[in-house]
Amino acid sequence: MNNHADMSLPDYYQDLPPSLIQTSALIPLPPTALIHRSNALSASIANTIGQSLSGETPAMAGIVSAYSGHQFGTFNPALGDGRAMLLGRLNSGANLEVGLKGCGKTAFSYGHDGRLSLTDALKEYLISHALMAQDIPSIEPGAIYCSGARLPQQKMETAAFLIRLAPSFLRVGHLEYLSITGQHGAMQHLIIHCMQPHFDAAPNQATFQNNLAFFSEVVERWAKLAAKWQAQGFCHGTLNSDNFSVLGLSLDCGGSQFMSRYDPLLCPNAIDKRGRYAFNQQSRVILFNLTVLAQALTPLLPLCVSQPVLATFKQRFNRYYAQLMAQKLGLRYQDVNQQPWPLSTMQALCDLSADILQLMFDLRLDYHRCYQLLAQYMQSADLELINNKRRIQLADELINHCGDIEVSAADVIKFSEWLADYQQLLQQQSPSPCPAQPSTNPRFTLRTSDVNAVVKAAHQENFMPLTQLIIALRGNKLEGAARQS
Ligand code: AMP
Ligand code: MG
Repeated sequence: MNNHADMSLPDYYQDLPPSLIQTSALIPLPPTALIHRSNALSASIANTIGQSLSGETPAMAGIVSAYSGHQFGTFNPALGDGRAMLLGRLNSGANLEVGLKGCGKTAFSYGHDGRLSLTDALKEYLISHALMAQDIPSIEPGAIYCSGARLPQQKMETAAFLIRLAPSFLRVGHLEYLSITGQHGAMQHLIIHCMQPHFDAAPNQATFQNNLAFFSEVVERWAKLAAKWQAQGFCHGTLNSDNFSVLGLSLDCGGSQFMSRYDPLLCPNAIDKRGRYAFNQQSRVILFNLTVLAQALTPLLPLCVSQPVLATFKQRFNRYYAQLMAQKLGLRYQDVNQQPWPLSTMQALCDLSADILQLMFDLRLDYHRCYQLLAQYMQSADLELINNKRRIQLADELINHCGDIEVSAADVIKFSEWLADYQQLLQQQSPSPCPAQPSTNPRFTLRTSDVNAVVKAAHQENFMPLTQLIIALRGNKLEGAARQS
């Protein structure tokens, strides 16, 4: 393993059985050039990796692992890192592992080429930037490289390499694999590794209590992540359990999408004809994957213990989701003393969120623009001065700015009636409205049209739109930081 001096191999891998991990060597593709690097990866490491990718220096070695997974609900025992390789861990103190995607054939490629197309690399890179900028837990983008080589197995697409960073790339599929192959000691080993640096109350011991704490933490993290995805209009698209991070991170998001027009049936995965992974199915399918995890863990944690934890997922998700949706409207989900509102207020908050979604759907409004304009119109206005006439004006203006169809006068009135309910709740919570949260209603959202424009330009070797789009996405984060300070 010839890691760069700034990286080391995570020690815990050395104690894993060879059936789980194997050493693999990168197959370079000259010429390869760095086209973008995120701040999380130093220029020196990015350059060193780049030289190896293009064959200028000896090929890097890394580790690949076996995993299984439930794909579209069906168990597939034989998956694994078919095109991804773990290069090492950053020595910078950030405690991030460095993964390479598109490395060429590995022991788990099963006849495929082990490569990543430039289109898919760009999509995944941009989506992870967008997620990070909106404070949605995700695998971090590290760098992206473009090669002059073409991929015969992928419609002669241009080849690319993607560097991804994460505290751990562990998937539920890894634990499924160890469970069905009877490698329970290795499964316990991975859980302890996972708990040590990343989970709160978890001493380094293989006890029943710690395994329970581990499972509860995974359920909690996924309840939070699922709520964030829903609130930010994000659809993963391929929520197979092999794409399901144990740390509750958005992982393998190349086929994901942020919605534009509000559409609960949004389903960015073209092969998902039945909409198993559609936007409005995500919390259900996440619960399915957590159930798969509970089943895999049975040698270490009986189902009668994990089931009650699993049963809390829905409630946890609903609470986080309701909180975030209230926040998007600048409303408090709890009073200033963090005490729950009376039931009638809670009901009014939930109705308000559900009703605006229904209006957005009926009137084909843009999800993000609509929340942004609502914040602009109502949260910054003198609420006392907004009368019925003004509400109708605002409703008309908002529909015109966010929609793409002609709407009737009755629809405008309906929207203005919703505004009246909204105004009432804002007034009730005044003078202590919800403090502005960074990235709640991001100023800039990743649109499919922007991604496509970047991809098109990149294929013509113009990488400027890529850089510009990432600057725009990062602006959300910077703006959020400014608002907080
Ligand atoms: P994905 O759809 O990217 O989550 O991949 C599902 C499985 O197929 C994983 O085990 C991948 O490693 C494998 N896979 C996908 N594309 C390739 C490829 N081009 N070469 C080798 N393995 C691949
Ligand atoms: Mg995958």
